[in-house]
Amino acid sequence: MNSIQLQDYIRDIPDFPKPGILFKDITPLLADSAAFEAAIDQMAAHYEGKQIDVIVAAEARGFIFAAPLALKLGVGFVPVRKPGKLPFSTHSFSYELEYGTDTLEMHIDGVAEGQNVLLVDDLLATGGTIKACANLVEKIGATVTGCCFLIELKFLDGAAKVAPHECFSLIEY
Ligand code: 5GP
Repeated sequence: MNSIQLQDYIRDIPDFPKPGILFKDITPLLADSAAFEAAIDQMAAHYEGKQIDVIVAAEARGFIFAAPLALKLGVGFVPVRKPGKLPFSTHSFSYELEYGTDTLEMHIDGVAEGQNVLLVDDLLATGGTIKACANLVEKIGATVTGCCFLIELKFLDGAAKVAPHECFSLIEY
């Protein structure tokens, strides 16, 4: 298992979704059960023994890593979604994008005040998405224990935006 190099399963897609963007495609990793399992195992190993009550992740690719990690750590998983997608009453949080704003929602009973929350996503770029999730969790009075990613684009320095919360990633570019 240790011989698996996770970065071998990430495919570069030039000019997606816009010209000039080099998109990191995670689907080859997802398609290989040994590589996918190795990624989840490495994430779980990092948080073993840490106080985590619940995992929160934003749609859509965050869900893919959050759900198996939650099972492995023996905690629940709470989805964060775009407006209008969740059926029950929600907390919502708007955040700045490069151009305009976006809003995320979470069920009001998803995370309780005082809980320790691990945030999960497939990739950390500018940090905007994970920072919005952190703000949503903190608005409820819960604590962000850490932020876990498969991939971190170090040159965009998203971790600085998320500080002082710890960012942990398995692959760095
Ligand atoms: P940020 O908010 O940190 O700028 O962007 C991270 C979010 O955008 C994540 O939810 C991630 O799914 C998505 N994202 C941005 N760029 C990429 C990429 O190159 N590959 C993948 N898989 N997701 C990306």
